[in-house]
Amino acid sequence: MVSYFDHAATTPMRQVAVDTWVEHAHFLNPGGQYRSGREANAVLSQARETIAGILGADPVEVIFTGSGTEADNVAIRGFAAEPGARIVSTPIEHPAVRETVTDLEEHGASVDLLPVGLDGLVQLTDALDQPASVVTCMWANNETGAIQPVTEIVSRATAVGSPVHVDAVQVVGHLPVDFNALGTTTLAASAHKFGGPRGVGILLARRSPTPAPVLTGGGQQRGLRPGTVDVAAAAATAAALEEAVDEMGAENKRLSQLRDELIATVTHSVPGSYATVLGADQPTEVLPGHAHLTFPGANGDAMIMLLDSHGIEASTGSACNNGVNQRSHVLEAMGLPDDHADGALRFTLGRTTTQDDIDHLVSVLPDVIEKARSVGSL
Ligand code: PLP
Repeated sequence: MVSYFDHAATTPMRQVAVDTWVEHAHFLNPGGQYRSGREANAVLSQARETIAGILGADPVEVIFTGSGTEADNVAIRGFAAEPGARIVSTPIEHPAVRETVTDLEEHGASVDLLPVGLDGLVQLTDALDQPASVVTCMWANNETGAIQPVTEIVSRATAVGSPVHVDAVQVVGHLPVDFNALGTTTLAASAHKFGGPRGVGILLARRSPTPAPVLTGGGQQRGLRPGTVDVAAAAATAAALEEAVDEMGAENKRLSQLRDELIATVTHSVPGSYATVLGADQPTEVLPGHAHLTFPGANGDAMIMLLDSHGIEASTGSACNNGVNQRSHVLEAMGLPDDHADGALRFTLGRTTTQDDIDHLVSVLPDVIEKARSVGSL
């Protein structure tokens, strides 16, 4: 039996997305002024309208990109391109944001990072009250699942006229999103996190202020993301999002119950283990499918390999910067001791997760941790 516990890295494509993609795979250039172009453009417009309607945006504000990473880059670089730019961000961002901010800093931008507590939450400071070229913060952290105070961040930053970018890649399709009500300037999402195709990002971008284009080309999509749009991928993304949002209420209830059972059983059966952000006196609000657990003294590589040998697929830190197992910058920023950070595992549940998967995991985990502890910390 294979049990997949890495839905936050990527989740299987929904059948409705596969079918919609196949149905529209033959569509031609939506920029063409002849009949086939108009037909392709009609499908694209419908996809935009569906996505805009679900996310509380205007259709013109929906920009398709090649990934969530690209959506983050277009927004942040587009606002902070000028010399002497000032950026406010956080130390727990996904590399799509973190590396972009670091690169801009290396090219002369000044950067203020908001502090983060052991609860996994970004703390608001007066760095938000001075005008910035861009303020960028994630809505929910991809490792811990901790839901960040984005409403407060957006209102404080916009009060002094700073454009705000919200990386909502872990949130769109999982929690309700209302772009207009949130009041952020731009927002990034990624289709493969909610059962759409991989390689499709969404940037919601207000008409004003608007980021300066990073790419140059044919002027498609308000010039913000020039290039011929993949009509089939856009339609498949809209179909996936529609289904994800329809199922959200019931699915979040089901997942959080399974997740709570997983955490309760594991923390009871594995000595010294704890839920990294949920276990505190005042539990942090976390995405329903996220179980981030810490097993102090266990070796991260050994845990992953031993779990894999039992058919359990999970990750230590973030799968997006995997390959080399480094200590998580998120847990470091939260101030977790090194041996706790090195012994952290992220289990993320999703649409295909069943009670059998949970039973499978909790039956093997105590033995896996005992063995991984005998190897020692990284
Ligand atoms: N931002 C967050 C919070 C993420 O979790 C991810 C992917 O894991 C990304 C950005 C990057 O998205 P993509 O894989 O579509 O480039």
